[in-house]
Amino acid sequence: MTAFDSFPLGKPAFVSDILDRAAYLRCDDAKLMALESHRDTRAYVVYRDSLVLAQEADGPRALLGIDEALKFGANPGTIFLGLRDGAAVFGMGISAPAVESLLPRNDVAVSELRGLAMQGAVPPNQLSAIAMAKSLVNWHQRHGYCANCGTRTAMKEGGWKRDCPNCKAEHFPRTDPVVIMLVTSGDKILLGRQKQFLPGMYSCLAGFVEAAETIEDAVRREIFEESGIRCTDVNYYMTQPWPYPSSLMIGCTARAINEDIVIDRAELEDARWFDRAEATLMLKRQHPDGLAGPHPFAIAHHLVGRWLQIELGSRA
Ligand SMILES: [Zn+2]
Repeated sequence: MTAFDSFPLGKPAFVSDILDRAAYLRCDDAKLMALESHRDTRAYVVYRDSLVLAQEADGPRALLGIDEALKFGANPGTIFLGLRDGAAVFGMGISAPAVESLLPRNDVAVSELRGLAMQGAVPPNQLSAIAMAKSLVNWHQRHGYCANCGTRTAMKEGGWKRDCPNCKAEHFPRTDPVVIMLVTSGDKILLGRQKQFLPGMYSCLAGFVEAAETIEDAVRREIFEESGIRCTDVNYYMTQPWPYPSSLMIGCTARAINEDIVIDRAELEDARWFDRAEATLMLKRQHPDGLAGPHPFAIAHHLVGRWLQIELGSRA
């Protein structure tokens, strides 16, 4: 076993995209209608932060047939997600009353997506498409009226656009950039905890990129606002789609200039420096005080794990 094997990082949730988005089909209404009725076509049915699954003997199944989804009460409007192995995959919403009627059934499950991802109850290579369905279904539910003139808008292009019939404005699904960063100072990293975190859990600091702001400036600003730490040497590591409702987590590293933490109590309950030994125990959930790092499904786990990996690798 090499030192690297101590942290088989894999990938965070929502990044293993095996779907061909086939954007050229979005404007082809006739083709999309034909795909909807094709026997190989499947759909994900999303309700708020949850997924509607068929409950089978060997576990839950997220990919439903279109007819099956409609029988469960899914809304008829479909969002074209793309092609998987040549077969079309759509996203569908479902109303609260329809979900209520499903709850007593033992052949259907309505389960929160975060829990499904954390437990591995849905194949990891489907989570990206499910995140796409969730973000788009939620966007349509929240953007039924034109922000320009207030007229009811209509879904177009397989669900990738809404048009206003009155002022002709076009509305597109938005993605909100969020920076999440691992701040280092020598052999230590800065982690914080928000009040709503599970007891003992610490993670990387994060915040939304603001209007007309670079990623580098957002990293430096958020760290300073939340912890009083000034940073330099901002580097990009990786990104993670985060469908709550439509963020893109931009994972970065940064080097601290000072170490005296001043916590913004409105944002954080605590923030501390952790050395490698402590961070290792936290990721492994073996810390003697019950402290824990972020879950492997989150990009923060991978930022911390990669930092530990590099050090372990250099010692191997
Ligand atoms: Zn309008």
